[in-house]
Amino acid sequence: MAQRPYIVGNWKMNGSRAMLAEARAIDRAAARHPQVDIALAPPFPLIGLLREAVTGIGVGGQDCHTEAKGAHTGDVSAAMLADIGADFVILGHSERRRDHGESNALVRAKADAALAAGLGVIICVGETLEERDAGHAEDVVASQVDHSLPQGEAALEAVAGGKLAVAYEPVWAIGTGRVADVEDVIAMHAAVRARLHAAYDEAGARPRILYGGSVNAGNAAALLAAPEVGGALVGGASLTADAFLPIVAAA
Ligand code: PGA
Repeated sequence: MAQRPYIVGNWKMNGSRAMLAEARAIDRAAARHPQVDIALAPPFPLIGLLREAVTGIGVGGQDCHTEAKGAHTGDVSAAMLADIGADFVILGHSERRRDHGESNALVRAKADAALAAGLGVIICVGETLEERDAGHAEDVVASQVDHSLPQGEAALEAVAGGKLAVAYEPVWAIGTGRVADVEDVIAMHAAVRARLHAAYDEAGARPRILYGGSVNAGNAAALLAAPEVGGALVGGASLTADAFLPIVAAA
């Protein structure tokens, strides 16, 4: 892998104060993997606690609002995430697109807000099984990349500065134990890279393209060795140090 691998754990709506022990164990082990960028994204209530619990790994959120503050009950802004010590935010996860009806345009607006707050951004894209079976997987993902990623001068500067990553997560592979074929991952990551170059010219080479969807200790090495796979976004296998650290070791 030409780029530094980026292994990110997405805890989704899982976690507790007790589970911070797992994060501490991951953090302690991070020193043994200086060639890998490691990060965890817990639910909002744990972000500040995680920030205080770790030193060698990144800390992120799983969503943010488009505005910095105001009358939006229940929402959290990118500026608040930055203020509490988060380094990045995951945006446009398929579960948010599904559960909260998030559109590409909304994801793009959130990305603009996150970059303006100084956060790194991981934007998730991926096709459903119906879309893949209909032969539309690459078109769907290309369109998500074209329409969800931040645009404009400030975005270009942030992308060139390494603030953006894209996660390709086929919806049918998330939490199902059914991982995508490496050949399909290679083809999709190449397609995403082409769209990144279309959007950002030379700076399009910079974003790492992570694979996500049932990554575990058994399949990580093959996926991470594939061209243009710059890391992994890991859900279920990020909840314990025992499950997560072998993925880090495979990078
Ligand atoms: P999974 O989730 O590893 O549990 O499949 C990945 C994700 O949704 O980010």
